[in-house]
Amino acid sequence: MGKNTQADQVISYIYIHVPFCLKKCSYCSFFSIEFSKEASNRFVKYLKKEINLFKQKYQVKPKTIYFGGGTPSLLTAGQINSIISQFDISKTEEITLECNPVNINNKFVDNLKTTQINRISMGIQSFQDKELKVLGRLHKADEIGNAYKILRDHGYNNISLDLIYGLPNQTRKDVEFSLVEIIKLDPEHISTYCLNLEKDVSLFFKIDQIPTDEKVADFYNLIRKKLISTGFDHYEISNFAKIGFESKHNLCYWNDEHYLGFGPSAAGYIENIRYSNTANFSEYYKMLDKNKIMKDKTILNKDDHEKEYIFLGLRKASGIDLKDFNNKFKIDFTEKYDQVIHKFNNLLEINDKTIKLKPEAYFISNEIFSEFM
Ligand code: SF4
Repeated sequence: MGKNTQADQVISYIYIHVPFCLKKCSYCSFFSIEFSKEASNRFVKYLKKEINLFKQKYQVKPKTIYFGGGTPSLLTAGQINSIISQFDISKTEEITLECNPVNINNKFVDNLKTTQINRISMGIQSFQDKELKVLGRLHKADEIGNAYKILRDHGYNNISLDLIYGLPNQTRKDVEFSLVEIIKLDPEHISTYCLNLEKDVSLFFKIDQIPTDEKVADFYNLIRKKLISTGFDHYEISNFAKIGFESKHNLCYWNDEHYLGFGPSAAGYIENIRYSNTANFSEYYKMLDKNKIMKDKTILNKDDHEKEYIFLGLRKASGIDLKDFNNKFKIDFTEKYDQVIHKFNNLLEINDKTIKLKPEAYFISNEIFSEFM
């Protein structure tokens, strides 16, 4: 028997960061630059090189591939195909493309059908033009239904829509309005985001107009109640899905699975290493010219790993499997965290198999997670 090498590891989850947008939205901190055809061609060429450098080190056999961004729907079907063709997709179950509604038209989706993309995540964010304008989005509310219909007409039956809440001066009525509209579309999955303005975004000057924590908590509970009553399963703190349509890719993050991230600013997790790529195009290209990968690496010690496992696992409605935790970390969860469990007794649900947050704890989950840290 040969000794274990890195190449023995099979990596099943792939994230690809497509760092181009037509225009920067006012609230966005993700890394992206203005799109051009030339820049995207160069990016795809280097991305493929990066993928192949990893393939020399690791066995890569994706169960899921996730094209995030940025705006992956700015890529052509030819570019998407050429990226996917770098992988052995014989066991791939889910390939997601994040789409901007402004890119969705019959021609684009006709071409998309020539790719293996089988899940669409569309960033619609709101159904009110006044909110879309504040967010700096390029689409108008009435374009959403049309884009959605085109995707459905082309047979896409696994669609996720993003919704943002907690916008400057937003009211309960505003949230309710978008909720009613999103439910009418009847997608398979909905991701919700509480607006979080970093200092470097152009909307930061409206930070004083963000609704109070009490109001935002009320919005969150409204969203949760409405979506559950319409048949969605609230399977993760911010995510809702019809049964069987949970995001297989995103579950890898919460399930402590290893994944590779490709493209500028993408992050990955292998063995006990978390790495992130440079958020700088010329540096990214220079590194790949020198056949280098994984610029910023953080080695997780056992303690770091344990904390991450807890706060990511508790994000899932199903919580943490205690047997799995105890086997992995060779300690007894309930003994070690006895005090925290006791302190949050009314917000945690624990039995001999699992520990999970009670739904009323979801909105203040960070407070609870910090006690485990
Ligand atoms: S929110 Fe999406 S479309 Fe807008 S700038 Fe950020 S990545 Fe680009």
